[in-house]
Amino acid sequence: MVKAEDLQVSIAEGYLKLGMYFDNLIRKGNVEDEKALEMCQKIHELEKELFVLKKQEKEVAKELCPSCSKEVEQLSKFCNSCGFNIEEYRNRETVTCDLCNNELEGNSKFCSVCGSKVA
Ligand SMILES: [Zn+2]
Ligand SMILES: [Zn+2]
Repeated sequence: MVKAEDLQVSIAEGYLKLGMYFDNLIRKGNVEDEKALEMCQKIHELEKELFVLKKQEKEVAKELCPSCSKEVEQLSKFCNSCGFNIEEYRNRETVTCDLCNNELEGNSKFCSVCGSKVA
């Protein structure tokens, strides 16, 4: 049995596709309906805004605590949740595995991912 809710989703998706198809026609200059042009223009402006916002959000993306995996403020010294010393962790010495590029503690002898010997 198809549920009404599912149909509604399909219909909404259909409209969305129709809108994108229409938008394409407008971009190609195949449509001269002013109302449609105006609507598409609004969407394009929102898309631009979204692009900028996403970029900004990425830039302020938070760091995860290596100990408890909770979000921590960037540049904070300790984790608010578990008290892990993040600054020390950031400044720790690391070596990179030649084989798989995995980052390892500075005193590691073997890579924890591929098992190869680290010099
Ligand atoms: Zn933590
Ligand atoms: Zn490795």
